[in-house]
Amino acid sequence: MPGLPPDTVENFLHWLHRHGQTERAIDRFWKPVLVSALNEDLDRISVHYAAKVFRESFLLSPQSGRMGIPSIPLSELYGAATGYLRDRGSEVSLRTSVESIAPSPNGGWLTTTGNPEIPAIPSDAVILALSFEAMAALLPALPQNPGSQALDANLAQFEHSPITGIHLWFDREVTDLDHAVLLDTTIQWMFNKSRLQPTHRSGEGSYLELVVSASRSLVPMQRQPIIDLALQELAQFFPAVAQAKLLKAAVVKEVRATYSVRPLLDQIRPSSASPWPGIFLAGDWIATGWPATMEGATRSGYLAASAVTSGLGAPRTFLAPELPAAGLMRLFPRRP
Ligand SMILES: Cc1cc2nc3c(=O)[nH]c(=O)nc-3n(C[C@H](O)[C@H](O)[C@H](O)COP(=O)(O)OP(=O)(O)OC[C@H]3O[C@@H](n4cnc5c(N)ncnc54)[C@H](O)[C@@H]3O)c2cc1C
Repeated sequence: MPGLPPDTVENFLHWLHRHGQTERAIDRFWKPVLVSALNEDLDRISVHYAAKVFRESFLLSPQSGRMGIPSIPLSELYGAATGYLRDRGSEVSLRTSVESIAPSPNGGWLTTTGNPEIPAIPSDAVILALSFEAMAALLPALPQNPGSQALDANLAQFEHSPITGIHLWFDREVTDLDHAVLLDTTIQWMFNKSRLQPTHRSGEGSYLELVVSASRSLVPMQRQPIIDLALQELAQFFPAVAQAKLLKAAVVKEVRATYSVRPLLDQIRPSSASPWPGIFLAGDWIATGWPATMEGATRSGYLAASAVTSGLGAPRTFLAPELPAAGLMRLFPRRP
């Protein structure tokens, strides 16, 4: 409660054992919350980030743990962002990779993309909002200096953690729940897409998505054994699954879903300042103080925008204030 413990070599499973947590408490409380929130196994999670989830989501206030579930497909959410930018005079080029960034003879930077129809883009400032592996891949196409070598060395220490989504379409409703957390099975979360997203409703049938975070055990498995396992486990919770006809199924393995929030991670996360003047880093992996989440990604964008304004001599802050503490937690202010 008083604050977040420092990021040390200790992993959270070790911490739980050290604090006398029973296997049942670990399997049925700590694990479902943290493996989903941080997309990593307990024995690979930093104590600092595990504490952050519990302090910021559970203890801080009754509102801080609220979770949003989209009622429209994610592509529609992203589409809205593109429209927002275009309405404000921005150009958005989809499916266009940055291939190199070089100093411009007139000052600033020249960014070259893989699209021959787009001429090199001159700019005073560049924000690279890439994943860590994409940043590592682009690094050789940027000017080399001691800072870029240090960034390269840090990027090489990031690791991935996978997420697997199992999509099942049945000929009937198998549950009237919108979503559920499933204990003691490989499958962890059930989202009833037909109920949560009206666009997925069709006739008598139903569409469920099962999510498995930190799904290393599923990565080497073939599609059909994963579907068989999911159906067998799902039927333990929803017996109607055994009678229902499976119309269609899809397995989506995101092997590089997020970076691993392993112990000592903070030692390798860079700030939004980059090794090149006028170029700034964003992405959920930079030093936001947050784990690999949309909140972390959003904060990284605000931090990079602030760094750009500072670089232009007119500093502004964009980060939204943290949620206020409520109740007893007002006695324990956040420490930087
Ligand atoms: C299956 C799955 C489920 C998740 N669930 C949740 C969740 O429930 N809640 C949550 O908070 N977070 C969740 N996350 C994590 C969340 O999606 C990430 O933390 C977030 O998207 C990171 O955003 P970002 O902008 O840092 O990076 P990204 O979203 O990875 O964006 C980087 C972009 O850079 C582009 N790019 C790469 N190379 C280049 C190049 N050379 N030139 C131009 N562009 C390039 C990529 O195409 C990509 O669009 C989930 C992730 C996955 C994979």
